Amino acid sequence: MQIALPINALSMSKKILVWFRNDLRLHDNEVLVEAIAKADEILPVYFFDPRYFEATSYHTIKTGAVRAQFIRESVEALRQALQSFGGNLLVLHGKPEDLLPGLVTAHNISEVYHHREVASEETAVSTHVEDLLWKQKVNLKHIIGHTLYNKEDLPFPIKDIPDVFAQFKKKTERDAIVKPCFLTPNQINFVALADWGTLPELSALLANGEASNPVINSIFKGGEQQALQTLDELLHFPESNSLKKVDIVAKLSPWLALGCLSPREVYWKMKHAETSSGSKPFFKHVLQGLLWRDYYRFMFKKHGNTFFKAKGFTQTVTQAVADEKSLQAWKTATTGQPLVNLLMKQLNETGFITNAARLLVATYFVYELKLEWVLGAAYLEERLIDYAPASNWGNWANVAGVGNDIKLTNGYGFDKQLKIFDPKGMYTPTINA
Ligand SMILES: Cc1cc2nc3c(=O)[nH]c(=O)nc-3n(C[C@H](O)[C@H](O)[C@H](O)COP(=O)(O)OP(=O)(O)OC[C@H]3O[C@@H](n4cnc5c(N)ncnc54)[C@H](O)[C@@H]3O)c2cc1C
Repeated sequence: MQIALPINALSMSKKILVWFRNDLRLHDNEVLVEAIAKADEILPVYFFDPRYFEATSYHTIKTGAVRAQFIRESVEALRQALQSFGGNLLVLHGKPEDLLPGLVTAHNISEVYHHREVASEETAVSTHVEDLLWKQKVNLKHIIGHTLYNKEDLPFPIKDIPDVFAQFKKKTERDAIVKPCFLTPNQINFVALADWGTLPELSALLANGEASNPVINSIFKGGEQQALQTLDELLHFPESNSLKKVDIVAKLSPWLALGCLSPREVYWKMKHAETSSGSKPFFKHVLQGLLWRDYYRFMFKKHGNTFFKAKGFTQTVTQAVADEKSLQAWKTATTGQPLVNLLMKQLNETGFITNAARLLVATYFVYELKLEWVLGAAYLEERLIDYAPASNWGNWANVAGVGNDIKLTNGYGFDKQLKIFDPKGMYTPTINA
């Protein structure tokens, strides 16, 4: 028997706008799953926000060519994935707060869903959007979904999370659980649109200096499929007990940073691989990395902007040298230290260097060149393909001796890092190299 629908039934359908940011995936995506469950139709949207490509007060650019290209590829991949469900991704070039209210009105949207970020610039955008939507009587729903452990599953409230990483790790691993992944949707109903927008060209995104010379030599390709394939290859990487700790490089961070890969997906796939074919020495290392990632995100939630200040968690600022020549030499890989030069060249060309390499170039910057650490952090923000505010500024603050982990922050030095990184004076490539 067919039920006759009232004439306006279609226009009454509930429409939810899914605002994609650093969650460019279909797997383990709570925002998407929730929106699909609650709405008759969804409108997925991505904004290329011009603010993320502007110059900074540190004479750097917020996003350099390598990461801009990676973001573009990842958005394109998400669009293709949504097209395979018979829909699309609306791609717009502009600020969310300028464009979202109009979209809500034009498409009769009842709610907007998005993932909550932790750094102040991102949360400020959310607050601004929330205020504007509120005036339209539309709710902006925040979901927290970037971490391995959910905030509510931790054994302490955010304000009481230990500042010492070792304590955070011990208690979290002992008392918290990692939730299962959300299932990848098998059906999506989309709002009908005539024009889904075009991806801006790289030259339209980049600030002047970068746009005129966007040399891109990255070894990473953006997108969820590429991320899942890299994870799969990693899980099947031959076991080797001879691998030294500093040589273990999974190279998952660019996809994790942009949300093409969920940390829970990494965790559960590793747990399944352990059950089926036994643990591999580097599984533990990668899972510890994910804990570091959670730690810095939770620390940002706890302490906010302190991580962006030169004095960090200390009472006084150590007087740094304002030596433009040394700063440029470090950036352009022309210092007096050959290994630092090699690594900075690699960073400039590919957007990626290992953790040990980051520690080496950062300790050289802070303790040998005696430059102000925030300038180094801002440069890595521009260059890193895996840039994530909490991971970058949190690690830099600790390396510079102004971090919040008192057990860690005073223990860095260039000679020490050099010995760890390269005990035999050789530069050794690794897994996935
Ligand atoms: C000065 C400095 C700046 C950094 N800036 C960033 C950044 O902007 N973005 C970023 O993702 N990581 C940053 N890191 C952390 C770390 O160097 C990279 O995450 C790591 O090198 C990525 O390689 P991988 O995927 O092979 O890591 P693995 O060692 O295999 O670890 C698995 C994952 O855990 C996370 N992780 C590992 N170590 C850390 C750590 N110390 N802090 C936070 N997360 C970690 C990453 O997501 C990584 O992909 C920085 C470290 C330093 C010392």
